[in-house]
Amino acid sequence: MSAIAAISTPNAPGGIAVIRISGDTAFEVADAVFRSVNGKKACEMSGYTCAYGFAYDGDERIDDCILTVFRAPNSYTGENVAEISCHGGLYVTKRILRTVLENGAETASAGEFTKRAFINGKIDLTQAEAVMDIISAKGEKELKMAEILREGAAFKKSQSTKEKLIKVLGDLAAWADYPEDDIPEVEPEALKNSLYEIRSELAELIKGYDYGRILRDGIDTVIIGRPNVGKSTLFNCLSGCERSIVTDIAGTTRDVIEESVKIGDLMLRLSDTAGIRETDDIIEGIGVDIAYKRLDEAELIIAVFDGSCPLEKDDLALLERLSGKRAIVVINKSDVSRKIDFDRINELNIQPVYISAKENSGIDEIHTAIENLFEASEINFESPLAANERQKRCIDLSLQNIDEAISAIDSGIMLDAVTVLLDEAVQYILELTGEKATEAVVDEVFSRFCVGK
Ligand code: GDP
Repeated sequence: MSAIAAISTPNAPGGIAVIRISGDTAFEVADAVFRSVNGKKACEMSGYTCAYGFAYDGDERIDDCILTVFRAPNSYTGENVAEISCHGGLYVTKRILRTVLENGAETASAGEFTKRAFINGKIDLTQAEAVMDIISAKGEKELKMAEILREGAAFKKSQSTKEKLIKVLGDLAAWADYPEDDIPEVEPEALKNSLYEIRSELAELIKGYDYGRILRDGIDTVIIGRPNVGKSTLFNCLSGCERSIVTDIAGTTRDVIEESVKIGDLMLRLSDTAGIRETDDIIEGIGVDIAYKRLDEAELIIAVFDGSCPLEKDDLALLERLSGKRAIVVINKSDVSRKIDFDRINELNIQPVYISAKENSGIDEIHTAIENLFEASEINFESPLAANERQKRCIDLSLQNIDEAISAIDSGIMLDAVTVLLDEAVQYILELTGEKATEAVVDEVFSRFCVGK
């Protein structure tokens, strides 16, 4: 393939920057720009070796650099790759890239290096997707999940499932084609058992998917409660800054304020809302409607109550709305004498957390309560998990076809129909790994990438 080039390091000043060139003519392009002090050309260098020298634009020296050579197929893309490491200034880096482009390389589009690795069979689609997940990982577990996929664990697992399905299909075909020959009849029970086994292997890949998604995307969290219970003060305690307006005038937080907050491995996408109460004020009323809407949509509700006074009608209305939701009940103002009615609180199946937002006490208990709510002890981060909606959809559809095949066997439907369903299940595994994905699917995957990767 023709040579492509891009800056692979961030578009910001730094210690060093890397210009990556990949393709059949990568070394010729590098030789037109880089001159090593030992006189050796990239074309003559072995793979995985470096040379010190200078980048030139014609006869004009631009910068001193290191050239690293990777020879096909032992490179990221599977092609010849030359990487020029220069000083990490924005101008110098762009100047060297421009010279590289003037000497025969084309500009690499977003994700094009990884796309080439995929096209050249170095990686499958799940591994390609994991590359971006590694780059965007914000915590330990997220990184671990991405690393496992990057190493090809999901690919290997889906390959073994696919092979088992193909074996079943082969048995069915042999029996359907030559029923009168010596080929043993396909026993429905044995067939079903094989399919149950295959099914559970595949289902492992989407177990814990939601937890993985939460680790990646954060938890959509809303802080809700009547005016003046201390929502904004708590929001500021959790986010560690004075973003919400804290006043003792009821109804001062009128729209939704958002902030990302890290709690252990979890990230909360936290929003403070207008206080909920019955009101005739039109503007405040809109805020209250938004707050209730957010309560219905959110993945986690932090419901705040004022411990220094008895529960009011609006508090009770909120408590009712919490049933069946993932919620934490926070009783605030523990620094002043407690007047909240215990009986009503004890009726809740949720253990309340007592805090004083003003004195910043009890916040660790909120952290613990959140971590317990999203406890993922059953998830094994050492085994591969579907990393995104695309992967989950492929696995779901494959499973759906296997389930339909099992039902078809149960209802004594012709084996032909079972074959069609299992064939479809295989197709979705091929789409998962990209062995048989449409151009649109592949383009969609790489559209998420950054330039230079
Ligand atoms: P919001 O309307 O629910 O957002 O409430 P704010 O956070 O604006 O707080 C309302 C009032 O309660 C302010 O005067 C806060 O200083 C006060 N407040 C908030 N948290 C506490 C607390 O833990 N203890 C006490 N004593 N007052 C608090």
